[in-house]
Amino acid sequence: AAFPSLQKFETEIIAMAASLLGDDNAVGTVTSGGTESLLMAVKTARDWARKNRPEIKHPEMILPLSGHPAFEKAAEYFGVKAVRTSLRPDSRADVDTVRKAVTANTILIVGSAPAYPHGVVDPIHELAAIAKEHKILFHTDACVGGFMLPFVQKLGYSVPDFDLSVPGVTSISADLHKYAYAAKGASVILYKTPELRRH
Ligand SMILES: *Cc1c(COP(=O)(O)O)cnc(C)c1O
Repeated sequence: AAFPSLQKFETEIIAMAASLLGDDNAVGTVTSGGTESLLMAVKTARDWARKNRPEIKHPEMILPLSGHPAFEKAAEYFGVKAVRTSLRPDSRADVDTVRKAVTANTILIVGSAPAYPHGVVDPIHELAAIAKEHKILFHTDACVGGFMLPFVQKLGYSVPDFDLSVPGVTSISADLHKYAYAAKGASVILYKTPELRRH
């Protein structure tokens, strides 16, 4: 590496994020912001599917209506169709609609913790279970919640499961330039395995 100290900083940041977000063995990358972390999540899913699900020619991702617009950018850039699903009356992702939206072309399901328009955490446990059942990837968008919810929980409030400890969650994003109080632009994306990160 041209700047060994930079690599050390990145390794330390990823290790801290991983220990906060449910899996000490997670790997990851520092990015320039939440948008880039979400771009990486979608690119990873596309390239993972090219290798592991080569029969899929027109990949799709399932994106609840409250999902961040950066996922739409990613869909355009990387040739993945974004399939928007409805919300429940409490503004959380509707699990049954997501289940019905799965097709033979689905490579990725997304949930938010919390979604930025309403501040509510999607039912990540149920959504990730659908992804696991279909052997596809699941990304938790914890861009705004990743460095806040673990501390809300520590204060004794109940927080729905959302992180890498949830079965089926294969990646998670958390913005350092939000509740980690870093200068813009800084975010992390964590992956469950080095194999995923390679994509
Ligand atoms: C802020 C945010 C993003 C995008 O992050 P930027 O750092 O603004 O690019 C994505 N998802 C959620 C839930 C966010 O709160």
